[in-house]
Amino acid sequence: MRGQSAMKTTPCRTCGKPISYKPAQKHIPKYCADCRAKYKKDQQTKQGMVTITCKNCGKTETIPANVQHWPDLCQECRAKLPPQKITRKCRGCGKMFSFPATVKHWPNYCRECQQKRKKKKS
Ligand SMILES: [Zn+2]
Ligand SMILES: [Zn+2]
Ligand SMILES: [Zn+2]
Repeated sequence: MRGQSAMKTTPCRTCGKPISYKPAQKHIPKYCADCRAKYKKDQQTKQGMVTITCKNCGKTETIPANVQHWPDLCQECRAKLPPQKITRKCRGCGKMFSFPATVKHWPNYCRECQQKRKKKKS
């Protein structure tokens, strides 16, 4: 063993746990896998994931903060509800449109605009 391919270790900047890395590696890791995973999760939270508390069962749920109207109920309770219609103003044409509250992702655009946007993409 010449030791050239031996792994080196560096302490994690957060928890101090030794992280092993190849000496040939250009970027020496600063954080261990655990801390990186935690960091990623924290970033997700910062990037606009919010936790809402269900008005019905009190359960918390994480939803993207960019939804225009934060739901009052968790997905489960929303699914149990009789199909409720949500009315929203379309971001594209400004027209009011409605959709069932049970859909996972509430649309920002009316059906027409959604179709137009789809066509543009492809
Ligand atoms: Zn760590
Ligand atoms: Zn609920
Ligand atoms: Zn529209």
